[in-house]
Amino acid sequence: MEDKSKQVAQWIVNAKKMVIFTGAGLSTESGIPDFRSPGGVWDKYNPEDFYFQNFIASEASREKYWQMATEMWEPIKKAQPNSAHLAISELEKLGKLDCVITQNIDGLHFKAGNSEARVLQLHGTAIFVSCLSCKKRYDRDEIQERIKKGQKAPRCDDCGGLLKPATISFGQSMPEEETQEAYHRSSTCDLFIVIGSSLVVQPAASMPLVAKRNGAKLVIINRDATPYDDTADLVIHGQAGPTMAGILEHIKQRLGIGN
Ligand code: NAD
Repeated sequence: MEDKSKQVAQWIVNAKKMVIFTGAGLSTESGIPDFRSPGGVWDKYNPEDFYFQNFIASEASREKYWQMATEMWEPIKKAQPNSAHLAISELEKLGKLDCVITQNIDGLHFKAGNSEARVLQLHGTAIFVSCLSCKKRYDRDEIQERIKKGQKAPRCDDCGGLLKPATISFGQSMPEEETQEAYHRSSTCDLFIVIGSSLVVQPAASMPLVAKRNGAKLVIINRDATPYDDTADLVIHGQAGPTMAGILEHIKQRLGIGN
């Protein structure tokens, strides 16, 4: 493990353009459950209740959706970045990060200090709520207050449209600009590092392959095996926080930077 961390550190130091791709596993050490681990979201809820078509189709589905979304909001709101988020933010400060492509909706890359310009949120954000009709944006807490007061499926003040957290649900189209930019960055980087993703949700999971096909080195840091482990140049099966903290230490040593 130590040798592998040193190797990744060396590749980061040498990289001209590094992309980091993150998933829900990055944030479990911050207290936000992922989807597929035991005790994760899919152990508790039926994925079908998250389908966009169902949300659009019935008031009962919307009420159920908001009930689940309300329960998931509390840990997200309270969460603080862990050492993996902080290491990624440090890599930006060191000038070593082209961008983070994230599937996460928890905003923790920003809380850790990464700049807006360097984070592409493929699946949107839970920090805001938006109207599906007129696109008006609301602060999440404002809408959660309404739910506390008894609204079950809130609607837009301006146009009466359906309000939904600004996340991308199954069956909802991906944000065009972010997705295109993410493919572009993946295809032009020379080092692509996956951290904390099962790599089973498409199209996000195709990005490591795009990077690899275009000549980038591919590193996967994930607790469990992924379908792309055999394709990667290096795989670390471990916890994101301690692994990234260790890699950052090696990088600092190589760059001659103290703590
Ligand atoms: P996933 O649940 O499919 O996979 C998470 C992976 O992370 C698993 O393979 C697991 O082995 C690994 N993992 C868990 N804890 C880890 C740790 N501490 N260190 C290293 N690896 C760890 O998640 P995914 O691949 O991101 O895709 C599913 C979808 O989940 C995404 O669309 C995302 O939007 C959504 N999601 C996001 C959050 C969040 O924002 N924090 C939380 C739940 C789900």
